[in-house]
Amino acid sequence: MLKRKEYKFWFCTGSQDLYGDECLAHVAEHSRIIVEKLNKSGRLPYEVVLKPTLITNELIRKTFNEANMDETCAGVITWMHTFSPAKSWILGLQEYRKPLLHLHTQFNREIPYDTIDMDFMNENQSAHGGREFGHIFTRMNIERKVVVGYWEDEAVQKKIASWMRTAVGVIESSHVRVMRVADNMRNVAVTDGDKVEAQIRFGWEVDAYPVNEVAEAVEAVSDSDVKALTDEYYDTYEILLEGRDPEEFRRHVAVQAQIELGFERFLDENNYQAIVTHFGDLGSLKQLPGLAMQRLMQKGYGFGAEGDWKTAAMVRIMKIMTEGMKDAKGTSFMEDYTYNLVPGKEGILQAHMLEVCPTIADGPISIKVQPLSMGEREDPARLVFTSKTGPAVATSLIDLGDRFRLIINDVNCKKTEKPMPKLPVATAFWTPEPNLQTGAEAWILCGGAHHTAFSYDLTSEQMGDWAAAMGIEAVYIDKDTTIRGLKNELRWNDAAYRK
Ligand code: MN
Repeated sequence: MLKRKEYKFWFCTGSQDLYGDECLAHVAEHSRIIVEKLNKSGRLPYEVVLKPTLITNELIRKTFNEANMDETCAGVITWMHTFSPAKSWILGLQEYRKPLLHLHTQFNREIPYDTIDMDFMNENQSAHGGREFGHIFTRMNIERKVVVGYWEDEAVQKKIASWMRTAVGVIESSHVRVMRVADNMRNVAVTDGDKVEAQIRFGWEVDAYPVNEVAEAVEAVSDSDVKALTDEYYDTYEILLEGRDPEEFRRHVAVQAQIELGFERFLDENNYQAIVTHFGDLGSLKQLPGLAMQRLMQKGYGFGAEGDWKTAAMVRIMKIMTEGMKDAKGTSFMEDYTYNLVPGKEGILQAHMLEVCPTIADGPISIKVQPLSMGEREDPARLVFTSKTGPAVATSLIDLGDRFRLIINDVNCKKTEKPMPKLPVATAFWTPEPNLQTGAEAWILCGGAHHTAFSYDLTSEQMGDWAAAMGIEAVYIDKDTTIRGLKNELRWNDAAYRK
């Protein structure tokens, strides 16, 4: 489902006609070489396309408007090779609506000490031109990313690559459509919010459907299709009967296969990329979608449980941001469940009643059929596994009434000390930065939810840049967080974001 869009990024070099044609020829040639080598580096997830050197107000304005109109353009990378008077950029920047990266680099790495003269300095004055260019963004209060360093360096190229993924998350946000098969769980505050404001701010469409309309699509799936997918499950996963009758077990698994196929068809026919369910509102569905929802998440759909449409949309966006990433470790909906408070072994057991994405699994994945203590349906089949170790980010988007806030916590995923043979759900276990006590206290002070959109493959910088591009508040909880500092930051943010 998650098809890789052929996004491109435009490379626009700024200059002016003060230095003569020979200089401008060098500028164009240097830009061509940089673009060619960036594309050949193998480090960028998307292609860079060279555009003609921008030297006049008219051309700058025209180029940015073409970038707006071009559906394959996900952003513009700008570089000031020489000095480019920034008033020339005002009209173009006022009209530009996509992400922008200011690459602050120069063609030569080293000062050519023996040969440098004034001509060379005039031709290679990024240190000068980049400051003029940066000034106008700050003056106009326009969000942009600045990357500083030598363009051939791995670290610089990786920063560009990382920003490209954020930019695609920004562009794709306005294409996210969330299907709600139930309202938010009664009386729950943090999963609710202003859907109109979310559409204005993020571009999300969040629509409700009667659950039985989707259940009809499930019932319409043919027996042969259900059998084929159930066979695939049995080939792919370990079957943990745990004393259940094999035929009865398979019938339960087949119900999830039918839900997966029916839901996926309904989502695709109606152009939705994310979905929420609710264990208390299942209509004629025989089971809470468990295994089915896990598989849909794996295919790239966003998901939120108990009607949590904000987290569903965030999971979708984070899946798009990580799309096609080599050696990706996974992205999932997640929920904080239970603490381990043993000194030195502190952490939070993460799970959900069923719906954890198998992309984060480490090792074998099994199917279990177990009763669900909530809801009034037959025992649902679910995928059970433990998750990978290593650094990751957990994010929570909350609605504060007058604004949205994205809370971004760096976390360290670990193995639990012992297996949990009686727990019939997929799990992860992590310790938040800077440690459990401060991390959890900070999260609570920020108003963060119990549901999170979680990924091993994104950084807090990427998520914070995404929030900045959306014009919303971001709060980081990481190794540098102190409670005193955080409380002040929240206070200041209340003033800074006041409407
Ligand atoms: Mn939940």
